[in-house]
Amino acid sequence: MSAERVSVVWDDRFLAYDFGAGHPFTEVSRGLAVRLIETALGPGSASALAWVREVPPVEPSALLGFHEPAYVARVRAAGNARDRRPLDAGDTPSFPGCFEAAARVVGGTVRATRDALGHGRAAFAPAGGLHHAHPGRASGFCIFNDLAVAIGEALAAGHRIAYVDLDAHHGDGVMYGFYGNGRLLDIDFHQDGRTLFPGTGRTAEAGTGDGAGLKVNVPLPPRAGDDALLPLARRLLPPLLREFRPELLVVQHGVDGHWGDPLARLQYSPAGYAEVDRLLLGLAGEQGSSLLVTGGGGYDAANVARTLARTGLLLAGAPLPAATDALPGPWRREFARRTGGEPPSSWAEPPRLEPSSWSRASEDRLVGELEEALGRRFPPP
Ligand SMILES: [Zn+2]
Repeated sequence: MSAERVSVVWDDRFLAYDFGAGHPFTEVSRGLAVRLIETALGPGSASALAWVREVPPVEPSALLGFHEPAYVARVRAAGNARDRRPLDAGDTPSFPGCFEAAARVVGGTVRATRDALGHGRAAFAPAGGLHHAHPGRASGFCIFNDLAVAIGEALAAGHRIAYVDLDAHHGDGVMYGFYGNGRLLDIDFHQDGRTLFPGTGRTAEAGTGDGAGLKVNVPLPPRAGDDALLPLARRLLPPLLREFRPELLVVQHGVDGHWGDPLARLQYSPAGYAEVDRLLLGLAGEQGSSLLVTGGGGYDAANVARTLARTGLLLAGAPLPAATDALPGPWRREFARRTGGEPPSSWAEPPRLEPSSWSRASEDRLVGELEEALGRRFPPP
């Protein structure tokens, strides 16, 4: 990475992206991750990071770079209504103020992308990562697709972009949004769509037209963990990124693949996430790519906060805390106040592991499918 400071984009008004009590998605856990980064870095954080704390909603014209005008108008009307209206066929309802709240999240990711590209440095936008929204509809807790808007803007400016999606769910909104685009390499690790929403992301879905061979789907069975993620990341990411040579690397850092996540059934460990983060940071540095990291899914507040905080610390070049390190009292009190739950006492995240479903034969089978779909080889590193 360059010596430039890492831009961290967090405005407390992101908390207004709120589907209400009982809904699994909440920006509260992302906000707690940000507070944890501030706490862990201490008074020195002012020099390690460039904080962006005032983020306006993105300009409507930018939204229209990806979303259909009729859908943008529908969200605006729903946000002005007193009642809740479904924005998709599932679990993404409107709420009062949802237009402004969703547009502000997009504004954060767009700002972070501009910072990363403009200064040749890294940026972290933990409120973003809403990868399911489609041009004409909401999906999977995602009203507007901040990633697709930001990527669309960077593509329009002529940049070559690689997108790596670590979320347990397939990043369908981004992948299909740019399925024929030859300047977006999209690599998506996720739980197999036959076992998890949104059901897409088969290895055979490899892109079309100019994008053929540039959409890389890595579906993993339930109970696959670091033993699947790490060897596949080391085998696939270096050759793909080195050949594509992106100017911007975008990482959707969903943490619902964490072994303690209540909605998905992958079993990645905190150390596994950190290992993939180091691999991606190293590849971005090696190629001089700008780096944007967003948040994404993740439904256990304590694990989301700690995992995303570690990612932020790695981006800042700061040492990671030991698992046994205690979490500070003020942060624990804020956790209790904001979540209503019992705060974790340390950085340790005890495993709740079932026997892994993964084996070396599983890796060879999956890589073989990818080689056929993409028309290329992935020798073991
Ligand atoms: Zn997810």
